[in-house]
Amino acid sequence: MSELWRLNLAEALIGLKKGDFTAQELTQASLDRLKAVEPKVKACLAVLEEMALAQAQALDKAGFDATAPLWGLPVTVKDVFCLKGAPTTAGSKELKGFHSVFEATVVQRLRKAGAIIIAKTNCDEFAMGSSTEFSAFGPTKNPWDLTRIPGGSSGGAAAAVVAGEGLGALGTDTGGSIRQPAGLCGCVGLKPTYGRISRYGVVAYGSSLDQPGPLAMTVKDCGRLLAAVAGPDEYDSTVSKIPLGDFVNPKPLKPTELTLGLPTELWPNDLQPEVAKVLTEAKSLLEKAGVKLVKLDLPSLKYAVATYYILATAEASTNLARYDGVRYGLRQEGAVDLDELYAKTRELGLGPEVRRRILLGTFVLSSGYYEAYYKKAAQIRRLIFADIQKALTACDFLLSPVSSLSAWPLGSFLDDPLTVYQMDLMTLPLNLYGGPGLTLGAGLGADNLPVGAQLWGRPFDEERLLAAGATLESLWPPLGRPTL
Ligand code: GLN
Repeated sequence: MSELWRLNLAEALIGLKKGDFTAQELTQASLDRLKAVEPKVKACLAVLEEMALAQAQALDKAGFDATAPLWGLPVTVKDVFCLKGAPTTAGSKELKGFHSVFEATVVQRLRKAGAIIIAKTNCDEFAMGSSTEFSAFGPTKNPWDLTRIPGGSSGGAAAAVVAGEGLGALGTDTGGSIRQPAGLCGCVGLKPTYGRISRYGVVAYGSSLDQPGPLAMTVKDCGRLLAAVAGPDEYDSTVSKIPLGDFVNPKPLKPTELTLGLPTELWPNDLQPEVAKVLTEAKSLLEKAGVKLVKLDLPSLKYAVATYYILATAEASTNLARYDGVRYGLRQEGAVDLDELYAKTRELGLGPEVRRRILLGTFVLSSGYYEAYYKKAAQIRRLIFADIQKALTACDFLLSPVSSLSAWPLGSFLDDPLTVYQMDLMTLPLNLYGGPGLTLGAGLGADNLPVGAQLWGRPFDEERLLAAGATLESLWPPLGRPTL
């Protein structure tokens, strides 16, 4: 089997340009790799083989196009992005048989940039979860240890990148769903600023928090993917017109030019010892190179998990009201009236975590509770915003762990959703704030599992965030890929 799947995006692009191999050869190599490892990893919900090979053939026929920044590069997209010619399930039975009649803006932009979409990746149902175990189609496995979770909700995307099923991926991040799986699988993941990338054609979870973003093996590759999909879109008025910046070749930052803030709330004493050990070593490598690390406090973060789980579930309960058995996907026949049709379809189609969230979200929005929960949470979100904003004036970026645990064994917390919600503390405050965040591998733990670290940036500061990420990447040991 050709080993072309091992290349990162930047390397593959050079090879394609020089004519060392064709788009068809590269796509075939990624598809062959996918087929070889997929029975173990289960990262994909749909493989778009025919479509991908036809597109690669058309590209080869037309010849290399230097103006297409992703020309001939095979990638995957999370199954929350609508794409014509393939089902979109968002990991839910509720969307069984749903074929979108239009495409997400980001999917169109990927294609326009010359990328070849080879598969749609697995995720927690409607992107609600941190492990992919809530996918209605079964969990994805962590490529480093197939008995463990890959993180979530974009666990399929992260596992696919690390396993070599495509050279890059697009996921979505509402409370950490790009950054946490990237950390647990050992690749790079970027959540852009809210309003950087169009959400048009993306199955919605929490509309004030959701943001698509790239995952890849290097920081540079994430920048290249971001550049191709970011920017204003007439179909999504929340996308900002603030100039993008140079994401492909950001102006480099020397270690001595970086001051990173370490919030005490995000560096708790009870980090898992393997995680703490890797991160302590990673921090000392930064300090040796001249990066300045400063401690600071973000007191309002103690409310962040509660705030997020009120706001995100409230938004989810309204967003998911559209799955009524009439307009999309599943429809349970035989109902005597409309109410029964709604109830039966939703009972059949929605899994336990999604139901829990709809119940919670409906509760916090109901009359009498709205003021006490939803309104209060919206106010506290402002406090969290102000706290993070202030912290980012005292330093260039914040540095935090991605998760207090490395990838845990499948099934560990299925009966304990609250513990998993609590673990989202490391990622979700950034979504409440709206700024960009970048996860990259800090090292491998004693148990040979990746440990990620995360940079938090100011809104619309992705260019500098990518530059800082590249600096850290050059100082930390490369994780490589697991043997599968
Ligand atoms: N784990 C978080 C949740 O379940 C984040 C999910 C996400 O970012 N989509 O809400």
